[in-house]
Amino acid sequence: MHATDVHELKTRARGGSITELSNCIALCRGCHSWITEHPAWATAKGFMLHATAGEAEYRAAERERMRWLYGEELGDGEDA
Ligand SMILES: [Zn+2]
Repeated sequence: MHATDVHELKTRARGGSITELSNCIALCRGCHSWITEHPAWATAKGFMLHATAGEAEYRAAERERMRWLYGEELGDGEDA
């Protein structure tokens, strides 16, 4: 499906910003709803971050998302 939604990795309630590009990813409505309804999975796979998350956690979350999307071979490289 087309990406129509902006998902905040760290929610505004947790101190994240929807105007900070590094905090936002594009999702389709179905995936966005699913992630919102499954926060434990979303956190494990790098789609949600805790309030205390900093630069290192953002990079780790991106690696988790890439690993989930593209497979293990891209998951153990250097930070992009
Ligand atoms: Zn989707």
